[in-house]
Amino acid sequence: MNIIEDFIPRDRPNRPGVAITPTNITVHNTGNARSGADAAMHASYIKSTNDKVSWHYTVDDNKIIQHIPIDEMAWHAGCRKGNENSIGIEICMNQGINMEMAEKNAQQLIAYLMAKTSINDIKKHQDWTGKYCPAVLLKEGRWEQFIRGCFCLFEEKKTIKKEHWAKTYYQQLIDRGLVIHEERLDDPITRGELFAILCRMLEL
Ligand SMILES: [Zn+2]
Repeated sequence: MNIIEDFIPRDRPNRPGVAITPTNITVHNTGNARSGADAAMHASYIKSTNDKVSWHYTVDDNKIIQHIPIDEMAWHAGCRKGNENSIGIEICMNQGINMEMAEKNAQQLIAYLMAKTSINDIKKHQDWTGKYCPAVLLKEGRWEQFIRGCFCLFEEKKTIKKEHWAKTYYQQLIDRGLVIHEERLDDPITRGELFAILCRMLEL
């Protein structure tokens, strides 16, 4: 899962810069059904708007974009308690989107955040203020199913995550001074990195 970081500049009015320790995740639908209202469009909107509105991630059917670090407050829940305790995720619903894929991506993101933060409380926007949001999931009666999917993916991640199979090799290479960057065991290697490693091997 690839998360694109495209943060709102620190001096923008919708990035208050208040430190938080989130205890739950709030799920939204953007409410924007226009064609083209995808994650990239929301990323550019959120960086330029003067409205006091912000959230942490926007997800569509092929992208996850992060707008604010998860330990900073955003304005998405419609109430102080929600904003101060919650990571906000907007799922796109633009015309032509593959909604199933977008929701899968959102579930992956939520499972990832659950593993990263040990949060296990997933809320609808509706739980904070009564607003009919996430509208698509509510309208289609799939909220419970959506949440079950998040927990299933989380359980899968937990079992896989325990110990990466390549970790022992990584450690051996660290000990011999061959590693050229931090541990990213599933990332591809570039030609440049390969050249650097070959040189180091020749110097051993
Ligand atoms: Zn909402």
